[in-house]
Amino acid sequence: MQKSSESIPHSSGVGKYADVNWDELGFSLTPTDYMYMAQCKEGLNFAQGTLTPFRNIELSPCSTVLQYGQGLFEGLKAYRTADDRILLFRPEENALRMKKGADRMCMQAPSVEQFVDAVKQTVLANKRWIPPPGKGALYLRPMLMGSSSHLGVQAATEYIFLVFASPVGSYHKGEATLNLLVENKFHRAIPSGTGDVKAVVNYSPTVKPLAQAKAKGFSDVLFLDSVTGKYIEEVSACNIFMLKGDVISTPATNGNILPGITRKSIIELAKNSGYKAEERAIPVDDVFDADEVFCTGTGVVVSPVSSITYQDKRYEYKTGKDTVSQQLHAALTGIQTGSIEDKMGWTVEIQS
Ligand SMILES: *Cc1c(COP(=O)(O)O)cnc(C)c1O
Repeated sequence: MQKSSESIPHSSGVGKYADVNWDELGFSLTPTDYMYMAQCKEGLNFAQGTLTPFRNIELSPCSTVLQYGQGLFEGLKAYRTADDRILLFRPEENALRMKKGADRMCMQAPSVEQFVDAVKQTVLANKRWIPPPGKGALYLRPMLMGSSSHLGVQAATEYIFLVFASPVGSYHKGEATLNLLVENKFHRAIPSGTGDVKAVVNYSPTVKPLAQAKAKGFSDVLFLDSVTGKYIEEVSACNIFMLKGDVISTPATNGNILPGITRKSIIELAKNSGYKAEERAIPVDDVFDADEVFCTGTGVVVSPVSSITYQDKRYEYKTGKDTVSQQLHAALTGIQTGSIEDKMGWTVEIQS
């Protein structure tokens, strides 16, 4: 790729903040100044990437990402702390997950170092788009795609690794709690499929059930396993937990579930706070009996679920004050935003 001739990042002449109404942020794209892009040509590793102004990219109509969905994505956030530092949350985990996904999809992946460096460069280049403390985060979307042309189904021989950024607020904007609909017709993952990697092919099939649920007034869909239809798996873009007594449970990562970094972090935080944490197959009936239910993910953070509807029956859960989900939300976001000391070594400060 050619080095961009436009002036790059941390340039003077721009104010501390971009012109954004920070109080109105939801989870939608606000294009920012720069994106990172690196290419990998036949048989070689990824070349060093460059920052270029955020723009449309050129792809052959016959590229494997467009023809056969040979693509992966990641999602992570950069937070501005109250004392004006910039923190990433466990970015190596995203890099490792992309590597795992790349192996499943026969793709060349950037190294963990290149991935994390690309994310850092993208954040710094778009520093003025990181929301003020308490107003949201700069969401980073690393992507990996097969870019060479092949008419038959096969792995590409060339790849593009790209990272763009957008300031975001709440994922389910305007919804303090989630009302989930159990989906018993469509499934998101099949055994030995790609449910446990962030492959682009996992998401378009969820659009229809999601749209149908939203049209009925629900916030999101809870998918069941595709073999028996008896066990809960996850929500369209986040993992799910239930609390019963002093035990939090979440479906085990059996190959169908996306192994969320937030999920993994919440399990550790819950254990540190004295709760028992179980990863197991959870029959949908168990959930109806829960004290609390909540979803976890980079986008949703920790979102309390106020109801789950299954076959026209609605089950309700405790939300708000004095809930375990609220306690875990505070513990997690405290670390992510730098207001609580990070004893876990999860945050990575970006030095500008
Ligand atoms: C990304 C994602 C999650 C959450 O993963 P995090 O690493 O916590 O952001 C959960 N489920 C699905 C289907 C996802 O795509």
